[in-house]
Amino acid sequence: MTASAPQIEPPFLGEPYLLTPGPLTTSYEVKQSMLRDWGSWDDDFRAMTCDMRSRLLALLGEGAGAFDCVPMQGSGSFAVEAMLASFIPRDGKALVLANGAYGLRSAQTLQYLGRAYQLLDKGDYLPPRGDEVAQILANDLSITHVVAIHCETSSGILNPVEEISEAVYAAGRKLLIDSMSAFGAIELKPSQIRYEAMVSSANKCIEGVPGFGFVIARKEELEAAKGNSHSLSLDVHAQWAHMEKTGQWRFTPPTHVVAAFLEALKAHEAEGGVAGRGGRYTRNRDVMVAGMRELGFETLLQNRWLSPIIVTFFCPADANFVFGRFYELMKEKGFIIYPGKLTVVDSFRVGCIGQMDEHVMRQVVAAAKETLAEMGVASAAPPAAALEERAKLAA
Ligand SMILES: *Cc1c(COP(=O)(O)O)cnc(C)c1O
Repeated sequence: MTASAPQIEPPFLGEPYLLTPGPLTTSYEVKQSMLRDWGSWDDDFRAMTCDMRSRLLALLGEGAGAFDCVPMQGSGSFAVEAMLASFIPRDGKALVLANGAYGLRSAQTLQYLGRAYQLLDKGDYLPPRGDEVAQILANDLSITHVVAIHCETSSGILNPVEEISEAVYAAGRKLLIDSMSAFGAIELKPSQIRYEAMVSSANKCIEGVPGFGFVIARKEELEAAKGNSHSLSLDVHAQWAHMEKTGQWRFTPPTHVVAAFLEALKAHEAEGGVAGRGGRYTRNRDVMVAGMRELGFETLLQNRWLSPIIVTFFCPADANFVFGRFYELMKEKGFIIYPGKLTVVDSFRVGCIGQMDEHVMRQVVAAAKETLAEMGVASAAPPAAALEERAKLAA
C-alpha cells in the first residue's frame, strides 16, 4: 500500500460488506459528511455543486474542456433516460448494443420514449464487436446514434468500447455510453476514445451514496439538445442551462448525497484517481477470483472479458448447493453477495467495488469455503452443461 492510499476500515458498526455493484460499502467519512443540512439555494451548496462538476470533468483528463457535467436527480436509470431523450433527436434512430440487462433496459427506455432503434442482442456472454457494429451501420444509414454499455454489470463483462467507438465514428455516427458501473475505475478519456456523452451515478465506483446520476457531454451536444427531451424533469439541456445561469439544480437536489459524493471524490483523488481506484478493484478481483477458483468455482466469462467491477460465478452442480442458503450463510459471516441476472444458467455475482481491499477479499473466499462445508457441498464445480455452453458460444 502506498503512503497516499487511504486506510480501508471495516464497515461502520459491524454492518456487512456489500459485495454488490452499488449501493456499496462507503467510508465512515462519506457517511459522516451527511450529518448536516444544506440550503439548496445557499452559496455554500452552490459552491459544492460547482466543485463536484469540475472534479468529475477533471477525471476525463486531456480534452475535458470540450465537455460539461450535468448532475440529474434520481437513480442511474433516470440519468440514462435523460441522456437518451436529450441527445437522440425525435427523428433520430439508435443502435443499442446489448449483452445483458442494462443494454436491454436502454432499448426499453427508447421504446418508452418513442425513439426508433435497432437492437443488437449478444445474449449473456459475448461482447458486441467493432466489425459487427460497422456492418450494421453500413446496412442502415438511418441510424444516427449508437448506445453502448461500458461494463455490463449483469454479467460483469467489460465491453470493448474503444473498437466500438472507432466503428461508430468511421461511419460518421455518434456514440453514447452507459459507463454507470465503470466510470471512476476504468479510464474513459476523450483523448483515447471518442464519444458525445456518457453517464454514471453517485453510488458506483466513486463510492458515494445513491441519489443522483450525472451526464458528461460535449458542450456542442448540450447546446444542440434543446427541445429534444419529452420530459421536463429529465431534460439535460434545461438542467444544464439553469445550472450555468444560477449555479443551482432546477428542482430540489439531494443535498446530503451531494455532500457525501464530494467527500467520496476527495478520497478518490487521494487514492490516485482513476488509476488508483481501478488498481485496487483489479487486485480485489484477482485475489477473489483466484481464491474462488481454488474452491472449484468457475467464472461465467473468460479472463479476457472479466471486469474489475463485478464477477459472475456459475452455481455449483452439487445438489446440496442452494443459492438462498449460500446467501444467508455468507451474510451471517458479514458479506452480502448478489444474485445472478443471467437468462440461461444459475449464477451469482460478487462485486469488487466499494470500501474493501484484497484482505477483505481473502476473507470473502474463506467465508465461501466455510459456507460450502456447512452446506455439505463437496465440490463447487459448475454443471458440465454450463461450461459447454460457454465454450460453444466463445468458439
Ligand atoms: C447500476 C447501473 C445502471 C443504473 O441502475 P439504477 O438501479 O437505476 O441506479 C445502469 N447501467 C449500468 C451498467 C449499471 O451498472
